[in-house]
Amino acid sequence: CYFLPMDKEAIKSQIIKLKRQNNAVILAHNYQLAEIYDIADFVGDSFELALHAQEDSANTIIFCGVKFMAESAKILNPDKKILIPDINAGCFLADMITAESLRTRKQKHPDAIAVCYINSSVEVKAECDVCVTSANAVTVINKLEAKKIIFVPDQHLGGWVAEQLPDKEMILWQGNCYVHAKISSEKVLAAQKNHPSAETLAHPECPKNIRDLADKVLGTGGMVRYVKQSSTKEFLIATESGMLKRLQREAPEKKFWSLGGECLNMKKITLTKVLNSLENDKFEINVPENIAKKAKTALEKMIKLSL
Ligand code: 13P
Ligand code: SF4
Repeated sequence: CYFLPMDKEAIKSQIIKLKRQNNAVILAHNYQLAEIYDIADFVGDSFELALHAQEDSANTIIFCGVKFMAESAKILNPDKKILIPDINAGCFLADMITAESLRTRKQKHPDAIAVCYINSSVEVKAECDVCVTSANAVTVINKLEAKKIIFVPDQHLGGWVAEQLPDKEMILWQGNCYVHAKISSEKVLAAQKNHPSAETLAHPECPKNIRDLADKVLGTGGMVRYVKQSSTKEFLIATESGMLKRLQREAPEKKFWSLGGECLNMKKITLTKVLNSLENDKFEINVPENIAKKAKTALEKMIKLSL
């Protein structure tokens, strides 16, 4: 006897039925697969997702994104059940620094304060004064009294913040995101030549040579807002390729071309794994209390300073 695999539409219906039964909400990052958008209650950037996780009244959150995002939701909402459909959906950028190496850096610069990108482990967040996302990094760091900032782990986001805030002394960790680091200036220049009336939007995780070729540097949520209000009709998008369908959905009358590749970790989340999450409570995110308490201070300070 053979079991026929469920088709995608049947899995979607089953997910929608179960999430209602379980009082669960599905949050998805902009880079997720189209099939995940279809069953999500909310799609957004890292910051919007962290806020939404706090505001939603559901007691279970299925987090379709990468682990640091689900962990941040857990830290901000310790009483909610946070599930991630694939426990191995990590972030190579977040893995580029350990709490121990950050402590060593802090000892070298006792007059600096430590700021981390949300793309970091809970242990690293626990070592930092405040956390930021690409949507609020400039606003938050600008509001800090300290002049000297240790910024981890993304050198490119940190470098971009340093360009916007010349009064700050930014000590940068040399991490990067492989998806953004791989975008070549040749590709950007060729696309600009082929689409002369297009505007180029680059994520701040892009290296400086790519940011310098862009008309605007924006996080994924900023890109959504920008393309909707702009009178421009064509855009070249320098970030993870999944972003294209979010922009197409928000501005269907406009044209978009992707300059970036795929994030393997973001694409680990599939419909079948979301169904498994709902049916079997997989995989629950838990953060040790002492670390969660310290990391929560950094996340809450980010929210306070960015609003
Ligand atoms: P956003 O916060 O802009 O969505 O970026 C998250 C991310 O991981 C970019 O690679
Ligand atoms: Fe991490 Fe880069 Fe993937 Fe974003 S795109 S989750 S920074 S590896």
